[in-house]
Amino acid sequence: MNAQDYILLEDTYGAHNYKPLDVVIERGEGAWVWDVEGRRYLDCLSAYSALNQGHCHPRILQALVEQAGRLTLTSRAFRNDQLPLLEKELCELTGYEMVLPMNSGAEAVETALKAARKWGYTVKGVPKDRAEIITCAGNFHGRTITIVTFSTEEQYKDDFGPLTPGFVTVPFGDADALEAAITPYTVAFLVEPIQGEGGVILPPQGYLRRVREICDRHNVLFIADEIQTGLGRTGRLFACDWEEVRPDAVTIGKALSGGFYPVSAVLSSREVLGVFRPGDHGSTFGGNPLGCAVARESLKVLVEEGLIENAERMGRYLMGRLARVESDAVKEVRGRGLLIGVELKPEAGGARRYCEALQGQGILCKETHENIIRFAPPLVVTKDDLDWAMERIEPVLQS
Ligand SMILES: *Cc1c(COP(=O)(O)O)cnc(C)c1O
Repeated sequence: MNAQDYILLEDTYGAHNYKPLDVVIERGEGAWVWDVEGRRYLDCLSAYSALNQGHCHPRILQALVEQAGRLTLTSRAFRNDQLPLLEKELCELTGYEMVLPMNSGAEAVETALKAARKWGYTVKGVPKDRAEIITCAGNFHGRTITIVTFSTEEQYKDDFGPLTPGFVTVPFGDADALEAAITPYTVAFLVEPIQGEGGVILPPQGYLRRVREICDRHNVLFIADEIQTGLGRTGRLFACDWEEVRPDAVTIGKALSGGFYPVSAVLSSREVLGVFRPGDHGSTFGGNPLGCAVARESLKVLVEEGLIENAERMGRYLMGRLARVESDAVKEVRGRGLLIGVELKPEAGGARRYCEALQGQGILCKETHENIIRFAPPLVVTKDDLDWAMERIEPVLQS
């Protein structure tokens, strides 16, 4: 079968809920992937930052294979010998007191929302069914019905109603608007420290600190969604670390498994995650020993191989190189660590064309919104890789 055969099968038998680039990948190693015709590409998307440790990292692969041959699933009806170790290691790494493991990122966000509501009723004393949660315009937190309720992207919600009540939207990066939106019923503020899918949007310097102060003053939980920005992507363990801010709860996912397996989690305090009683919440696969073994090794790789530091160094280098490209098409280059957005001018004709041109040159990127190209290679990427990429990116941006 060739690429066209695979594409035809997928388009025939699969729902069309994505519009992928027509590259059929069959193998990956580190920052690189190969298509079915044997062409090599530098992966500059990293599966939306799920591949921070690179494709098929040998240590994570070994952990996966060993664990898969021993025990894969117990359900939480029984205990297993991996979950307690992952929970302890995550708390020691991040400084949080408790972990609730799930699978996809959206499930971690749903879990955080449920925790916040129950905390609101049982700890803060909000009257029954009145809890409000504040979210930001331009957010991306996943695709469940409740989560798309507070998306400001009309397509995400159109024809999926009726939606979930209890959410309020404020502009991203505007701390005064957050404070003005708080009522006695507000239980939480959910925010991405950098909006990833929203187009790599950085809030003004000092925003997260002000959010922390405001949430403290009003007894509102500050929940950071670090599913994309976390685990080293921005050159710190968490993007909130750039402002030395500690949210009350953090959602993580994506790179928690190094791209091998869906593993997500909510990290928080005993006060917040302690609200769950047996039977309140759960997931058949959440906390399964295979996922936990993979996540444990993925975290070790991140720390022991210095990938967080490499993200900062390589991010600085790549952003500097991109910013120096002289091109009439580029409006702005922005980002932090290896989460970089190149915003094109509206008259450039859209980012998709540029992504297709980059694909022809051996670089895989995906547009986000109409006019933004995101560059987010695996954190194992080297300066030589980036030099190779810039030799190709520069002429495409100038074409
Ligand atoms: C990807 C993402 C999610 C959703 O994760 P899934 O695993 O796709 O459900 C949630 N929040 C942010 C910030 C994300 O980038």
